[in-house]
Amino acid sequence: MQTIDPGPMMKNRQIKQLEDKLINQIAAGEVVERPASLLKELLENCIDASATKIEIQVDRGGLKRIQVSDNGFGIPQEQLTLALSRHATSKLVSVEDLFEVETLGFRGEALPSIAAVSRLTLSSRTPDQDKGYQVVVHGGHQASAPVPVAHPVGTTVEVQDLFYNTPARRKFLRTEKTEFNHCDNAVKKIALSQPSLEVIFSNDGKTVFHVLPASTEEARKKRISSICGAQFSKQCVYLESDVETMALSGWTGLPTFSRAGRDLQYFYVNGRAVKDNLIAHAVRRAYNDVLYHGRHPAFILFLNIRPELVDVNVHPAKSEVRFRESRLVHNYIYRVLHHTISGLTPRDSEINLPTPENIPLMSTKTGGYGNYAAQQNIKMLVSDQLRGYGALFEGSRNQDAEPVGAPGHSPAGNDQSIPPLGYAIAQLKGIYILAENNEGLIMVDMHAAHERITYEILKTKAEENDLNSQPLLVPVQINVSQTEAQFAEDYIDEFKSLGVEIDRLGEEKLVIRSMPELLSRSNVESLIRDTLSDLIEFGVSGRIQDAQHEILSSVACHGSVRANRKLELAEMNALLRQMEEVERSGQCNHGRPTWMSVSLGEIDKWFMRGR
Ligand code: ADP
Ligand code: MG
Repeated sequence: MQTIDPGPMMKNRQIKQLEDKLINQIAAGEVVERPASLLKELLENCIDASATKIEIQVDRGGLKRIQVSDNGFGIPQEQLTLALSRHATSKLVSVEDLFEVETLGFRGEALPSIAAVSRLTLSSRTPDQDKGYQVVVHGGHQASAPVPVAHPVGTTVEVQDLFYNTPARRKFLRTEKTEFNHCDNAVKKIALSQPSLEVIFSNDGKTVFHVLPASTEEARKKRISSICGAQFSKQCVYLESDVETMALSGWTGLPTFSRAGRDLQYFYVNGRAVKDNLIAHAVRRAYNDVLYHGRHPAFILFLNIRPELVDVNVHPAKSEVRFRESRLVHNYIYRVLHHTISGLTPRDSEINLPTPENIPLMSTKTGGYGNYAAQQNIKMLVSDQLRGYGALFEGSRNQDAEPVGAPGHSPAGNDQSIPPLGYAIAQLKGIYILAENNEGLIMVDMHAAHERITYEILKTKAEENDLNSQPLLVPVQINVSQTEAQFAEDYIDEFKSLGVEIDRLGEEKLVIRSMPELLSRSNVESLIRDTLSDLIEFGVSGRIQDAQHEILSSVACHGSVRANRKLELAEMNALLRQMEEVERSGQCNHGRPTWMSVSLGEIDKWFMRGR
């Protein structure tokens, strides 16, 4: 056996005040993780200084150099040194201010933390100075007193050689490309949150983007398109809502524009970009029914809430917040989004209806109107679909629903009586319905549409039937924590309304006696555990409903499947009319579009026919 040297830990146990330099480096660990995190701090300072124009230059993804210049109100000569010292801020005066913060910064930690781990140059001029002043700091040591420098009104901060004096931290940096992507995201976040700000962003001397102030809704959309890409801006809906204490506005993507990752999700609380589990949960729930499993929605949303109802001082990088009434906020966001998404029916002419133009083509080179990326994403082959089409309209002939509309009716001219999805004219390959409306041609994926309708009908039925609670043959006992048991007890009535009968057996024991019929064969224990953990974390849970919806959705899918089948015009028209009535019929349960339209003008273009 070896004897272990007690080492330096044992020898040096006196409590000592840390040197300022070391304190700053420790703080830097929280604020400055990588180039993008210091860039974020610098950008926030520009906004707080009322800048209307910001120019950002990064070199080698920010690893070599980051420079941010603004035209804000500047820092007076005599305060330059102070701005670089810890806990020095012009944004807070008293403790009360901390609970009503209206600036992005308030901790007075960013500049000193950045300066502690880099070579930083701060130059600034206020409107009443006739020249600017500059200070240089290397690794936290100020080189000299401020010296005069030519500078327009505003501030420039240049940061070079990040972590040059902390090699251990430098090891955590990634490739230039990765670091650039993070910087790019930080600039986008600020540019999206401030529509009246001009932003010029370049990397290694090349312009990445340059956006101008936007005041009209159209200009804002154009701005979003240059920041987030044209596809998103074409496939999103604008929403706006307010209640007494808060308001939500912004753009949310159509379910057909889902993403593989969470890259296009921007959420702002009082202008501050935040990451928040509660918000993420609310959004996920709202899109739950219409997104293919594993896909993520895209959105840019702004929540404005009374400052006293949100605590922004819970995270060193200020990227998290805490709501005083988290449950209210959750439910509000969920309701507004759910309402918006449910409203996306073909009747709604306000929204961006899916047309071949605004669905991204698989390849711009091949063109062709069949290659929709939205459909390509989920790799649904026509042959797969063929197998399923048969069940479609099983028994539709003796359905009580009267087929509406006149089969064979041909809408000539602009007839107001023609329904949005028009009248069927033919069936293509047993898969698609072709219909004619006022604008031109409508194509409907029969299976997808039928599945959506069946699902919505089943869902409504399930809700009306009070979910058919059934006693379990063998009641399920589960051991839980005291908190979980308490929550289960507090929410007994809510559980009951979902068809779940639950009892507390002891301090840490629950028993489940009945479940809704649809769920009686699912894993009861894990469903209840997950529900309780949602309740504890978010104050709400949609697990039981979600599980039910998932089952309904698969019932709907299988219920809509049978071998390739020919439909009568009347049957096709009945389907079109049902689609117009049913909520969210614009996409099937898997987030695939159920129908497309091609306008006459578009068709004219194919044939080079001028009108
Ligand atoms: P905070 O933003 O939390 O106050 P910082 O360390 O980021 O702390 O900045 C310290 C102070 O320096 C700010 O309070 C502000 O007065 C001043 N300052 C920093 N950057 C700018 C800028 N771009 N324009 C004007 N003042 C600035
Ligand atoms: Mg700041």
